[in-house]
Amino acid sequence: MTKRVKYLLRESDMPTVWYNLASDLPGPLPPPLHPVTKEIMGPQELGRLFPASLLEQETSTQRWIDIPGEVLDIYRLWRPSPLYRAYRLEEALKTPARIYYKYEGVSPAGSHKLNTAIAQAYYNRRDKTERLTTETGAGQWGSALSVACSFFDLACDVYMVRVSYEQKPYRRSFMQTYGARIWPSPSTHTAVGRQMLERDPRSPGSLGMAISEAVTDAMADPTCSYALGSVLNHVLLHQTIIGLEVKAQLRMAQEEPDYIVACVGGGSNFAGLTFPFIGDNLQNPQGRSPRLVAVEPAACPTLTRGVYAYDYGDTAGMAPLVKMHTLGHRFVPPPIHAGGLRYHGCAPMVSALLDQGRIEARAVPQLATFAAGLLFARQEGILPAPESNHAIRHAIDLALLARDEGTEPCIVFGLSGHGHFDLSAYDNYLAGHLEDMTDAEERMGKARSQLPAVPAEEENP
Ligand SMILES: *Cc1c(COP(=O)(O)O)cnc(C)c1O
Repeated sequence: MTKRVKYLLRESDMPTVWYNLASDLPGPLPPPLHPVTKEIMGPQELGRLFPASLLEQETSTQRWIDIPGEVLDIYRLWRPSPLYRAYRLEEALKTPARIYYKYEGVSPAGSHKLNTAIAQAYYNRRDKTERLTTETGAGQWGSALSVACSFFDLACDVYMVRVSYEQKPYRRSFMQTYGARIWPSPSTHTAVGRQMLERDPRSPGSLGMAISEAVTDAMADPTCSYALGSVLNHVLLHQTIIGLEVKAQLRMAQEEPDYIVACVGGGSNFAGLTFPFIGDNLQNPQGRSPRLVAVEPAACPTLTRGVYAYDYGDTAGMAPLVKMHTLGHRFVPPPIHAGGLRYHGCAPMVSALLDQGRIEARAVPQLATFAAGLLFARQEGILPAPESNHAIRHAIDLALLARDEGTEPCIVFGLSGHGHFDLSAYDNYLAGHLEDMTDAEERMGKARSQLPAVPAEEENP
């Protein structure tokens, strides 16, 4: 019997709807609060930053949301994306586990982020936005939004976390190719950026800081909106096409997963892969349900070490307060190479699921993730993004555990992107220059103690 390595859906079987988990959650999420007054924020107030159609999705409780035809046409450039069976990795690990991975690196931007970038650019264009601002950590989100803006003829300004700007010059070239303007953050281009530079002229930057800059820029220009690459409900929604495809692909493989594993930065990649499975479980609680594992860096352990509390989405305290797992908005994560996972908070929806015990979280140190990524590359041929290495690490650990315990689980993980722009990180690893950077305990404690106070009734509605 020939082994089937790749599960491909026909183009005509690509999902034409996104799945909205809010429709199946037992109750509403704690509402966002105004950063200054700390009162509940309505959609009108958020409307200064986002177009109406995206705000509607943000608060929608409709289960299925149609993907617009123009978005589907662009998705078809690389979707449906492949699901692979990792036979060679299984053999190398001598594990009886069956390992599958969903590969999102086939998108023109090289990661899952293009799924939402295309949708956001489409809705902004339809609602008459002319320019988008955003932040980017490792550069993947900035890259995705640059590609999407060029498809929909929008101007694009990207605030790129300074440490990544310096580590990854080709990311900058990539974004500029599509017509975007790039600012290293903290930058002198905005007032908040200048304040941050005054406080610490050598600041490596953080996603939280870059968000503050992108938000300030967008607020000052009525033709401009802000775009966020993760965290918000509508972003998570757009990513659910991943999990919907995986469900169909696992049916082809005649498998039911025991574990679904994905790395977590802001949570959209994890949400995209797992929410359709969580939805099944919420609709049919008696059914069999996989264990869902969110994997994060030990250097930025938001889900495993953070608190579930209201906090600002950005560093300067200008973004709304949302209830989420957080290390504190002032926490500046160490400059690990998985830049896309250096965020102090996490999506409110993912945080609520963790709080309700519907998902699990694990933290893994940097060196172990690169060891896993290298093993994976040498067996499967794909060079993974440092972020994706976190999911690979945990999938391998589960497979090794299965070997030791003699169980035969089906493990599915998300390979969220390729690492072709991260070769300097691999260089450092191969040269023995990488460190684990897990010694942030003291700074984490300090940042947690700076959480904003909110009215008690909003904390416990
Ligand atoms: C941004 C990014 C992540 C983390 O994304 P979230 O959806 O915010 O959790 C993971 N993998 C890759 C390749 C990324 O670019």
